[in-house]
Amino acid sequence: MATLSWSLVLFLALVAVVVAGYPDINTVPPVDSPEVVAWLKELNLAAAPNISVNSVNPATNTPNCPVNQTNTEKNAACHSTCSDCHADDIISCSAPLTWGLTFDDGPSEITPSLLDFLKSKHLKASFFLIGSNVISNTDTIKRQLAEGHHLASHTWSHTALTTLTNEQIVAEMKWTEMAVMNATGKRLKYMRPPYGDIDNRVRFVLKKLGYTPVEWTSDAFDTNDWKIPANATADDLTLAATNFTNTMKKYVASAKTNKGFYALQHDRTIESLNLTQILIAKKPKTLNVNNIPGCEGGASYQVISSNATTTAKHPTGTPSGISAVTPVVATTTVDVLTSVSPVPAATTTSVSGSTVVVNNPNDAVSCTRSIGWTLMASVLIAALLSV
Ligand SMILES: [Zn+2]
Repeated sequence: MATLSWSLVLFLALVAVVVAGYPDINTVPPVDSPEVVAWLKELNLAAAPNISVNSVNPATNTPNCPVNQTNTEKNAACHSTCSDCHADDIISCSAPLTWGLTFDDGPSEITPSLLDFLKSKHLKASFFLIGSNVISNTDTIKRQLAEGHHLASHTWSHTALTTLTNEQIVAEMKWTEMAVMNATGKRLKYMRPPYGDIDNRVRFVLKKLGYTPVEWTSDAFDTNDWKIPANATADDLTLAATNFTNTMKKYVASAKTNKGFYALQHDRTIESLNLTQILIAKKPKTLNVNNIPGCEGGASYQVISSNATTTAKHPTGTPSGISAVTPVVATTTVDVLTSVSPVPAATTTSVSGSTVVVNNPNDAVSCTRSIGWTLMASVLIAALLSV
């Protein structure tokens, strides 16, 4: 028992070192910590739209759509998940004939290999980082920056934001921002909501924090890499690439190439890395590839004021973008690439002969949590063996 106790102490100490100064990983951060209280003091959220916090479907981690909503209420909420409403979110790359290359849910253990690949192809990507993954992979995000890639936010715990309170959204965004800023000195500007889940209340809070949401163009541009089962064969991957390859061909042949697209891709499994390599190889020659700054131009990061406080190194005063907050017009955005047919969900059943793990689109929580538990279990076992 004594041996086990010491092992547990060592294990807990190691975990504490990993997350020192930060909230628990893969968990919505508390809103009563000194850091979050200080951040909230700097913001005026009083004018946030009065839109209810959604409940969560525990099977998918996505929000349950409100029932008995009137059209007026639907328009006021402009909920991406339930109404396919995108307001002024960026959903298309502004550069013509361009694949906006973005990777969600990292950094992970396969990210360095992805960086090797991108370097070999002279490609630049944007990485939507999960704060919980950043704090144990700071060398990776420093490398991403050094090699010309672009960093953006994918929240702290990868929780659907319409299921969180305004204060919890602030905590999710600011802890991630702080983790990246502490490692790189960069203050993130762009973000992708987990599961693409956003409404006008979330948009208001994000704008107060100076963030611009970027989604993927439509379901046709979801590479479905998150559906590929572990240990997929080369043939499985080639088959999985077929749908997106067809989407690229249709896009290039369409009359809608005056704007580019953003695809949904991840850097969290070897399968997602392998699929990326196949898709790049199958890319039509006329199709350009670029990251968000390459698509949108302008500043890649928020300006950091010189009078930073000692509280979590957060700039005082009004974060850039707050003064520009205006009510979001609740309109359903028409997909500029409507000539591209939605990709059928056949990939899920044809990828492999083995059982396909059907997660919710963009679901990273189960993955990152399992990685976290695996890591902790490994540390515990190592501690037990060492005594
Ligand atoms: Zn994600």
